[in-house]
Amino acid sequence: MNHRNTASIRDANAPWNLWKIFLPGVDEEAWQDAARKAAHVLSNLPASSLGSIDEMLEAVLMERQFGEGHWRLSVAKRVYYSIVRPILPVSIRPLLRRLLLAPQKERLPLDWPIEDRYVRFQFEMLRNVMDGAGVRSAPYIGLWPDGKRYAFVLTHDIETGRGQKFVRKVMELEERYGFRSCFNFVPEDYEVDLSLLDELRERGFEVGVHGLKHDGKLFRSQRSFRRRVDRINRYLKEWNATGFRAPFTHRHPEWMQMLNIEYDSSFFDTDPFETIPGGTMSIWPFMIGDFVELPYTLPQDHTLISTLGEKTPRLWLEKVDFIEQHGGLAMMITHPDYLLAPGCFAIYEEFLKKMSARTGYWHQLPGEVARWWKQRLAMDSSVPPDGNSGPGNGAVIGTIRMDDKIVRGDVPTSRPIHLLPQIAVAALQVLSLFSLIPYLI
Ligand SMILES: [Zn+2]
Repeated sequence: MNHRNTASIRDANAPWNLWKIFLPGVDEEAWQDAARKAAHVLSNLPASSLGSIDEMLEAVLMERQFGEGHWRLSVAKRVYYSIVRPILPVSIRPLLRRLLLAPQKERLPLDWPIEDRYVRFQFEMLRNVMDGAGVRSAPYIGLWPDGKRYAFVLTHDIETGRGQKFVRKVMELEERYGFRSCFNFVPEDYEVDLSLLDELRERGFEVGVHGLKHDGKLFRSQRSFRRRVDRINRYLKEWNATGFRAPFTHRHPEWMQMLNIEYDSSFFDTDPFETIPGGTMSIWPFMIGDFVELPYTLPQDHTLISTLGEKTPRLWLEKVDFIEQHGGLAMMITHPDYLLAPGCFAIYEEFLKKMSARTGYWHQLPGEVARWWKQRLAMDSSVPPDGNSGPGNGAVIGTIRMDDKIVRGDVPTSRPIHLLPQIAVAALQVLSLFSLIPYLI
């Protein structure tokens, strides 16, 4: 059988489609075996005791491990959104977040801001399958185009008309550091400035849809979701938008299939501070039914600054380090409504400044990242790269190489395997001619 040729929905998130590694003779049973051996890495999580890759991925990526009622808001939270929040002064909300949402962190079985078990599980599975095949290195289709090590995406949700007025300032700041981002607007709340949407697109930014109203009621029931979804789809079309984010990151993987979107970004790898805390533990995109999910992976601005009182972008940058080491997606949400506070804006600027000084990432709009992920998913990693014809679309054939030295060393065990894009391999070969390698390692 050749399961790697087809990227059906069933196996769209399977490890052979994440890694796209060329391992002749390795079949699905070998991957299943590799997964069973790697399951211990998901320690203390329900997914660790499941039998097959499908079951583990459903438990992790679709958040099934948090139980049946995971998507349902508690009565207290429903009352809060329906009755309390609309009459509450905006200035009190940060205090409420601190009081009500911060304690959730202790109850969530996931770590934060870095939850590395699913990432290590994927690497461990890869190591097992390579061990089984008796290889120390093998070609693979790089996770990101042009040999980039990780992806870096900026997004913003516009909560109110006040936030909308601050959008141009945020655009100017990002342009100054060479970045572009996606701004998600709420269609039926404040009056959306359509000329601003045109301007955003003209200046190379993206526009997305942020729910229908910002009232916390979109996911109250499947019926209420159904009632609103046609209007949301109409705005997606009118605004020429391909992406969605739900207000308050309320979410439901099955209901959301009714949205006419190419990607969603309402899920996250780990976030105990949201009204539905939890996480997919994934720092890579994945498929939820028909759309690509781009989980946000950096803490939200209000969590970092208002709930935790951070004065620097330190936590963001540390998370970016982790994502870079593992070839992930650094996906950020900030809100012009919060960024307009001078202290918050300064921390965001400091972050952009530090990021602009870094290299090796693919900075792109989320719509493009989703398109890339689908294209890569369709690429065939079952035939050996012959050096003449690549997979196209900027894809680069790299080498995954096991490095025992690193595994045994005192560096984190989450880095057992090196992902080297072909360009880096070639550069190392050239350098080795001049015996520079000992100075570099
Ligand atoms: Zn929002």
